[in-house]
Amino acid sequence: MEQADVVILGAGAAGLFCAGRLGALIGAGGARRIVVLDHGREPGEKIRISGGGRCNFTNIATAPDRFVSQTPRFCASALAGFAPQDFVALVDRAGIAWHEKTQGQLFCDGSARQIVTMLTEALGGCQLRLGVGVEAVAPGAAGEPFIVHTTAGPIGARRVVVATGGKSIPKMGASGIGYRIAEATGHRIVPTRPGLVPLTFAEQELRHSAALAGVSVEAAARVAAAPRKGQRAPLFRDALLFTHRGLSGPAILQISNFWQPGEALSLDLAPGRDLDGLLRQARGEGGRARLATVLGRWLPARLAGAVLDQMGLAEARIADQSDAALARLAERLSRWQVVPVGSEGYRTAEVTVGGVDCRDLDARTLQSRHMRGLFFIGEVVDVTGWLGGYNFQWAWASADAAARAIGSD
Ligand code: FAD
Repeated sequence: MEQADVVILGAGAAGLFCAGRLGALIGAGGARRIVVLDHGREPGEKIRISGGGRCNFTNIATAPDRFVSQTPRFCASALAGFAPQDFVALVDRAGIAWHEKTQGQLFCDGSARQIVTMLTEALGGCQLRLGVGVEAVAPGAAGEPFIVHTTAGPIGARRVVVATGGKSIPKMGASGIGYRIAEATGHRIVPTRPGLVPLTFAEQELRHSAALAGVSVEAAARVAAAPRKGQRAPLFRDALLFTHRGLSGPAILQISNFWQPGEALSLDLAPGRDLDGLLRQARGEGGRARLATVLGRWLPARLAGAVLDQMGLAEARIADQSDAALARLAERLSRWQVVPVGSEGYRTAEVTVGGVDCRDLDARTLQSRHMRGLFFIGEVVDVTGWLGGYNFQWAWASADAAARAIGSD
């Protein structure tokens, strides 16, 4: 049976980066015994399509509170060990031009492929084997801690790093194998669900909102329910997009990481505006303007029209409205409560929330607490970032932590 020092399962963001860091630490001689396996035809497929093809490779505002996990402080140690600036230094050294978009999000000026090239060039003497499916990891015989079963035969390994990602976008290689390996080796799994994903409406709600498909508005979104233990669901102010099936846009993708089926969302479609006060003021100015025209000052016309239609005010004039009627309208727009019926699922989700339970891993090294030599890094772990480059920063930081631990072993 073939033998390797380290077998890394998955050549995505975390696996590639871990291999490169490890190769650099161990040096050319040892690096020959590092094997990276992936069933895809190309490495780093998700990096290539990320950030609309420009890869939002990190966020300079990275901090533990930008991540969702049942063990909220778990990610702090790895994130402190490898900061966004450390990755930026590598990007600069590779001559890749980048820019900050908004809210600390760093993107390539050119193509996300540049990041994949940077990571594969750093592999040095590590062996990257594509088109090889990982089937299982089993304890080996004495002196050989692990056997990795693959579609190309078994490999004996002293160390195994599971970097097989989550369940999102199966078309791009997601298989969920990492969870199965974790469970089979005695680790708990925090239940998984799609994250950073559009939310869908029930038939009844769709009847009201179908006319709005394509409308985009700045909104503030939060989960209406009381915060769950240890998890504060923040307010996200960003673009919201009405779709044919429900809601999307950055504000909704962000809130989807926190939303649980059955919960209501509270949406402010005119954030930062005192709509009630503005409507009264507009009425005080006199004139016979239609409510639709007045609301159009602050909201997209289609949105204003659809909401007024729903409230039976399509043709109403502002001068005829009572204080109570204006307050009801303002309330409907600034505290719209809606209960999504579900999400678009793993088919479009950018990430998987949940995963290998952090309580079963060492926060400093990402090594299993039960099985020495077994590591879990990247998205397979129950650490999920907000939208905006945080998920890649977790992939880099967790990979670096594991590489340092293995390299110094
Ligand atoms: P992955 O990158 O998913 O890598 C896992 C690898 O394991 C894959 O190559 C897969 O082929 C391989 N694999 C799986 N199962 C098997 C098996 N059985 N045998 C062999 N190989 C296997 N995050 C950001 O921070 N910024 C962004 O701009 C961004 N944009 C995104 C856009 C899209 C459309 C999507 C889907 C995600 C985006 N993300 C972004 C999230 C980011 O891509 C992930 O968080 C990150 O890729 C996770 O890295 P990973 O290495 O853990 O997993």
